[in-house]
Amino acid sequence: MTFRVPLTNHHADGTDCPADHKHTSSGKPLHPDCLGRTYSQAVCSRGDWQMKNPGKGYVNECRKRHLASHPKQEVTGPKVLRDLLRLDAP
Ligand SMILES: [Zn+2]
Ligand SMILES: [Zn+2]
Repeated sequence: MTFRVPLTNHHADGTDCPADHKHTSSGKPLHPDCLGRTYSQAVCSRGDWQMKNPGKGYVNECRKRHLASHPKQEVTGPKVLRDLLRLDAP
């Protein structure tokens, strides 16, 4: 199983600022319904981590770092476990 840490953008009132809400390079909203991105949020699908911060790049950096901190259980887990059990056995 692979966990994901999707990054989402939000308006000041907490509603989603979806990808089709384009902004100018200075961050001004171009979409008529857009209030402007106030913060970005990343939530791990594993349920062990989440954060929000006004800096989109910062959130993106932290979510990548968190994702990298996950043990690669889906690949090495069962084998490592078997090895441990063998080592522990008398
Ligand atoms: Zn928006
Ligand atoms: Zn996680």
